[in-house]
Amino acid sequence: MRSLSGFFHAVRDFFAPRRREMDVQRDIPDQRFADVAALEEAVESLRGLADVLKHPDKYARYGARTPRGVLLYGPPGTGKTLLARALAGEAGVPFYAVSGSDFVQMYVGVGASRVRALFKKARKAGRGVIFIDEIDALGSRQEGSGNEEREQTINALLTEMSGFRGGEGILVLAATNRPEKLDAALTRPGRFDRQIEVGMPDRAGRRQILQVHARGKPLSAQVDIDRLAADTVSFSGAKLESMLNEAALRAARRNTGEITAGDVDAALRAVLVGEDRLNRPGAPQERRITAFHEAGHALATLLFDPQSRLARVSIIPSTRGAAGYSMAVPPDRMLLTRAQAEAAVCVALAGRAAEELVFGRAGVTTGAANDLARATELTGRMCLEWGMDEEAGLCVRQALAPWTAAGSHAESLVRQRLEALYVRTRARLDAHRDALDALAEALLEKEWLDGREAEAIAREKCRTNPIQSA
Ligand code: ADP
Ligand code: ZN
Repeated sequence: MRSLSGFFHAVRDFFAPRRREMDVQRDIPDQRFADVAALEEAVESLRGLADVLKHPDKYARYGARTPRGVLLYGPPGTGKTLLARALAGEAGVPFYAVSGSDFVQMYVGVGASRVRALFKKARKAGRGVIFIDEIDALGSRQEGSGNEEREQTINALLTEMSGFRGGEGILVLAATNRPEKLDAALTRPGRFDRQIEVGMPDRAGRRQILQVHARGKPLSAQVDIDRLAADTVSFSGAKLESMLNEAALRAARRNTGEITAGDVDAALRAVLVGEDRLNRPGAPQERRITAFHEAGHALATLLFDPQSRLARVSIIPSTRGAAGYSMAVPPDRMLLTRAQAEAAVCVALAGRAAEELVFGRAGVTTGAANDLARATELTGRMCLEWGMDEEAGLCVRQALAPWTAAGSHAESLVRQRLEALYVRTRARLDAHRDALDALAEALLEKEWLDGREAEAIAREKCRTNPIQSA
């Protein structure tokens, strides 16, 4: 390790002198608060600051102490950069964007001097918003190499911020996905003392975001924004935006005047599972296996997880390397019950279970690899993180980690639980074997089925042994 890092230092020395200026983007943004959807509280909290930026002298005259730093935290793609740009845009002041990671990959002292240079530049222009993305890279509590450099950089930043005098009109906005990793020095009073959560949108929020990005796009009247908002559970604003853009690209290529529901559908699928591969090879036997595998997932969704809506089942290979997929839309929810978590494991295991039922132990394939990883992770969290297992009890292993080495008992427990859920899944599919066969045959014939179609086929076969929720 030592010799390796020595080597990197040598390479850095070689290149560093050529990179003189840090890459600071500066512009007066044309975004406004009206371009930010579904973040009312965040916008309200920033609106007051736009006035401070516009009229700093007014606040100075009243002797008001105005905030210096605002921390925006939340998952990627939820609009933190957008909020910061909209603030600068509303106030009509320059926007300086840097990333925390730009500061730390340098020699000791360089990060700090770059911080000072950045503030000097902003002060010269008078007013402005300085945006530091990924501030956790700079202010992370992590031990290890580069600590001294980090500390110097943080101190420089804090010194610059505490040097703000009233009437200056410069505000620092910082963003992070991992607020818990921030150095406490950054969040002390007088620093980034205003903190705004920027969360994932719920269904109503997704609708508003879609509406913002539908502006200026010729969407056909057939496109149902409500339905689309319902179908995009766990999409961030960035993902929604990129989906509508993908739909617009498709429509433009065809150039028939409007973006159809078909374009939007295809774009949604492209974002979720990748593009359909145009030349569709696949040996007949592999198609059969895939058909049963996906039929297994689809049927298990109906059997175990009726709260989710089956959207589409397909055996068309995707460009991302999947042989097929079964897509279900879960309800919007914040919490997962134990029964729901178990159902999710069963649905994930159902592809492999169907393969085994139909093709025997020796016939199961590598196609279940991702499913198994997902099922294992969920089961592990149920047992070791969520206190959902009697034997594991309420004791969370992670919280004990500082004192105990990882026990192999935990692993064997998760293994047992996973096997038990697998047996349950296989038995349930076996009991509805007619429905499984019918779904697989329909897939082989049509290549894909709409969720409602698939449900109708399955129910039709289950008159004598009706499909009931678990
Ligand atoms: P973050 O900084 O949180 O990672 P960004 O602000 O870079 O996210 O979001 C990327 C893009 O996604 C934005 O430019 C915008 O087009 C879209 N977007 C994200 N969140 C929203 C939102 N709440 N309202 C409107 N558009 C959004
Ligand atoms: Zn699968």
